[in-house]
Amino acid sequence: MLFAAVELSTVALVTVAVLVWFGCAFYTAGVARNSGRSYHLWLLIGVLTGPPGLVFAYLLLELTGERSRRIRYGEGGKSDIAEMVRCPNCNQSVPRSFEHCQFCGAPLSRRKHR
Ligand SMILES: [Zn+2]
Repeated sequence: MLFAAVELSTVALVTVAVLVWFGCAFYTAGVARNSGRSYHLWLLIGVLTGPPGLVFAYLLLELTGERSRRIRYGEGGKSDIAEMVRCPNCNQSVPRSFEHCQFCGAPLSRRKHR
């Protein structure tokens, strides 16, 4: 009787653990997708690493993600990632820090109106 009860609770515990494990994996993948990362890659990582992986992925994606970068630096603010602007003359992508287009030499407007 006692042995059967232990067996049953073990099965229940493993079932819950597996559900939590895969729940974390899918949540990790969802966070990754929201941050513009690969859903399937992070689903795989989530399945392999489980809850610790979720915590790691959540921190990594939230801290490095596009959303938090915008919150930290503000729209159009300074960041270490070179932002690209369109040349008004030849329509090529040119880093925002450039004063003139590197393709046609046309002056770039410093401020972009939306
Ligand atoms: Zn140009």
